[in-house]
Amino acid sequence: MKTVFDLLLSKARTPAGVAVLSIATLSALVIVFRPREEITKQSDPEERLFVKVKRAVSGQKIKLDNDQDEYLIYAGIRAPVGGEPFDEEATRRNGELVGDQQKVRLRFDEEHRDADGRLLAYVFVEDDFVNETLVREGLAYVRSTTSSHRFAERLLSAQKEARSARRGIWSRRPGGTERSYAGDPHHGNFHRRTCEELPKIPADRLVEFPSDQAALEKGFAPCAKCKP
Ligand SMILES: [Zn+2]
Repeated sequence: MKTVFDLLLSKARTPAGVAVLSIATLSALVIVFRPREEITKQSDPEERLFVKVKRAVSGQKIKLDNDQDEYLIYAGIRAPVGGEPFDEEATRRNGELVGDQQKVRLRFDEEHRDADGRLLAYVFVEDDFVNETLVREGLAYVRSTTSSHRFAERLLSAQKEARSARRGIWSRRPGGTERSYAGDPHHGNFHRRTCEELPKIPADRLVEFPSDQAALEKGFAPCAKCKP
């Protein structure tokens, strides 16, 4: 039986066939190099959106090699940043995973961009789920938010494995000592009660956790400011 590809090849010998092949090639290029606006407005129904990576900026951020040189933030996780333990390791490992000039596949959640307008996505290299690998290796916390949660179960399972094995950030994380912590489901963070960020969050949005462990197990990541 002839496949679609065989048919295209046989038709390629005719002028009409050449046109069909050219259209097929152009369509493939459009999928790979889709302009920014389309990325925002349309979710690829088959999630076959590929982009080229310029470099890893941190354990949760990459710069894309497209017309806009856009930044992309990893959905569902928070890697250590700004001098937190293992921030350099997370950046280096992310660079190994996505590589320079490597083509990666993006999958989206409810929001395609964060509050700063940066792309927000889950990143895959072949079948490897990069966000999950970073969590499993103890180089990122799970951070589920109200709009980024589709892989929460998978990511939490990877985090459980990393914590049990005391990998990376879990090798140095002291147990929490406060009587309670405040979680912000919108951003997927939890805070000390004394955190300067808390007054900026609507009080009715906050949820209470009796321990940092309870917050971590629900997919809340420690605030980078009060470092609970
Ligand atoms: Zn805080």
